[in-house]
Amino acid sequence: MTDKNKLIDGYNRKVDYLRISVTDRCNLRCVYCMPPEGIELARTDEILRYEELLRIARIAAGHGVSKVRITGGEPLIRRGLVDFIGSLAAIKGIEDLSLTTNGVLLKQYAGQLKDAGLKRVNVSLDSLKRERFHKITRGDNLSEVIAGIEEANKAGLIPVKINMVVIKGFNDDEILEFALLTKTHPYHVRFIEYMPFDTQAGWQKDKCLTSRELQEMIGIASPLLPIGDSAGCRNAGPARRFRFADGVGELGFISPVSDHFCGSCNRLRLTADGKLRTCLFSDDEIDLREALRNGSSDSAIEAILFKAVAAKPQGHKINENMFKKCSRTMSLIGG
Ligand code: SAM
Ligand code: SF4
Repeated sequence: MTDKNKLIDGYNRKVDYLRISVTDRCNLRCVYCMPPEGIELARTDEILRYEELLRIARIAAGHGVSKVRITGGEPLIRRGLVDFIGSLAAIKGIEDLSLTTNGVLLKQYAGQLKDAGLKRVNVSLDSLKRERFHKITRGDNLSEVIAGIEEANKAGLIPVKINMVVIKGFNDDEILEFALLTKTHPYHVRFIEYMPFDTQAGWQKDKCLTSRELQEMIGIASPLLPIGDSAGCRNAGPARRFRFADGVGELGFISPVSDHFCGSCNRLRLTADGKLRTCLFSDDEIDLREALRNGSSDSAIEAILFKAVAAKPQGHKINENMFKKCSRTMSLIGG
């Protein structure tokens, strides 16, 4: 494939990673993502059908997209997901197929997902304490999530990544406990800075602990050894990666707020209702659904993909005064 056929944006970044949100629905109500009553959902007919998603994935793979992540809402609640994963895995060019989940239904599906061709999972987990898990997610499912993580590891959906959103004064006292999991388990525990979305009236910068602060706090308890290039430790994806000398897993620090990684951003997001988003923090969206449903040819769909990539902004502006929080929550954007 020549570079001309690849999705390259105006800043010479090659877009080879597509995040597909398969639903805007969720079986939890995390406080930083949704109000207790949930959010206004799209009508079923507004959500892209699996055939439509597969068509986009096939066209994108034909232009160099080799990594696909399935997300939501909670992807495991959409019926037929295992078969959809199987069809995605069969698309030529898609080499890395992964899924982000809250883990509630993971125990039930891990083996089937692996058999269908899923490579690995990221499980979101912000507390190891039952009461606090309930407070954060408004669900009493901690034991299911832990069982899901163990089952995913057993099924070979590896490395199992555990993503913890750290909020100062809320769950930061559990950082070390999460980090130490990597001494005894082959998990990749990743600490993610708390990000601003308009739905959380409560977001304030001082509730966001930076990756640097977290690294220092953990490093004092047990020295961290960098993985990858020693300057950035960021050789694959946005995480700065480390391990403990006697660890079997690894730690990652993802800092969208304090030290963004826009310069190497390779992502395009597709929302469940068929909009392309070229930056997590920009409300600019390009509609694909209309083209998918009005009989457009593959080349017309390709043209929309190229147009979206060309419009990818250089970076987000979270740290600038004029920054406006996104109007859609992560569950609608497909985090
Ligand atoms: N429901 C699935 C889950 O929770 O993993 C997938 C969708 S969820 C929107 C994807 C990720 O977004 C989760 O890891 C969640 O913690 C993260 N997220 C949601 N709101 C966030 C925020 N304000 N700051 C940081 N991460 C956030
Ligand atoms: Fe649901 Fe994931 Fe949002 Fe939590 S973060 S409410 S699990 S979509």
